[in-house]
Amino acid sequence: MAYPVLTNCPVCSQNLKITKLKCNHCDTTIENEFELSKLASLTKEQLQFVETFLVSRGNIKEVEKELGISYPTVRGKLNDIIMALGYDTQKKNELDEKKIVAMLEKGEISPEDAIKLLKGE
Ligand SMILES: [Zn+2]
Repeated sequence: MAYPVLTNCPVCSQNLKITKLKCNHCDTTIENEFELSKLASLTKEQLQFVETFLVSRGNIKEVEKELGISYPTVRGKLNDIIMALGYDTQKKNELDEKKIVAMLEKGEISPEDAIKLLKGE
């Protein structure tokens, strides 16, 4: 039975490396240090969100419907994932203020959503 890959040590919680691979067909095993994809550090829930986001082709409205969560929640989850992947979301947020106002004007988000977004909630 295959388990999901552990990315952190259960003893000291530091990052783990893959050091052994095995061929399913001929049982050949290879030992060395192998890097995990950055995505492997995401939680199961975050990966599920990424999958939904991709299938929706980045359409946040569709992600909202699919997962039954509000626009600010989608944005918050997205920011958490971006940060987990090692990117800084601070600069992006400042640029987004104009976008938030534009979305409010087009009626894409409610005034309450806009306030939450501008407060960074
Ligand atoms: Zn083989």
